[in-house]
Amino acid sequence: MSSILNADLHCHSVVSDGTLTPEELAARAAANGVELWALTDHDEIGGQHRAAAAASAHGMKYLTGTEISVTFANETVHIVGLGFDPDDAAMSEGLYDTRGGRGKRAMEMSEGLAKAGIHGAYEGALKFVGNPDLISRTHFARFLVEQGHCRDTNEVFRKFLTEGKPGYVPHRWAALKDAVRWITGAKGLAVIAHPGRYKFTANEEYALFLEFKEHGGRAIEVVTGSHSPAEYVEYADKALEFGFAASRGSDFHSPDESHCDLGKLPWLPGKLTPVWELLEHRIR
Ligand code: AMP
Ligand code: MN
Ligand code: MN
Ligand code: MN
Repeated sequence: MSSILNADLHCHSVVSDGTLTPEELAARAAANGVELWALTDHDEIGGQHRAAAAASAHGMKYLTGTEISVTFANETVHIVGLGFDPDDAAMSEGLYDTRGGRGKRAMEMSEGLAKAGIHGAYEGALKFVGNPDLISRTHFARFLVEQGHCRDTNEVFRKFLTEGKPGYVPHRWAALKDAVRWITGAKGLAVIAHPGRYKFTANEEYALFLEFKEHGGRAIEVVTGSHSPAEYVEYADKALEFGFAASRGSDFHSPDESHCDLGKLPWLPGKLTPVWELLEHRIR
């Protein structure tokens, strides 16, 4: 399969912090010309059977997907899993445990926001939650925008939900090794999501890539809604340097919030091995 394929292998539904259902996302992806699609909800695979059925109804090929939250070098890193067996028990248990701390974290976030004069944020965020197991910072951001505290969710993150801000609560997610093991153990392929977004030093990034590879990780996202054009070039070179395949995905969350729509991305640079070439046997 060529690198000229409209593959979108990263997006979110109401099963995590997106605003569209898996069916609505499938319709939007198909309308935008997506040929190969994956729904990658955070720490969740509850939408996978619905997404695969909807993809098939629209004539799109499908890879199962998820985006696992990991703590590496005191920073949150996201690992996308593609093409795994959605009924694998060890993977489901691992994701269940990873989601487990979100409720308590949300209550602590709400306490922090209350000290900054914003009351009722926990209950307010819950109104935006599609999956009670998956309350996320994004849901708090939507509540604060609704209440007029900020103009958009980006501003909420900047002022309230990132390190040092009143609604930020540090959290320990899964270990890199475990996340990669759950994915590969379920016959899937592990991908480092949006590597350009982490605030790592060059040494820390090098350590992440090397350890990820040692644990069996095979790819990084190169063309993503989270990268600038300069980062497409930077991470294309790093994919070649480390022998990683390359993935492409919008990271679409919502028509009102996402600047990159499903399928509306530049092609993967031709010199790279597209991740879908390694996953042909897993495509449905
Ligand atoms: P959580 O897993 O609850 O920590 O939430 C992480 C999610 O918040 C990410 O997947 C993004 O959807 C969203 N997010 C993180 N940083 C920002 C930002 N600066 N602006 C808008 N959304 C963000
Ligand atoms: Mn998200
Ligand atoms: Mn992410
Ligand atoms: Mn994402």
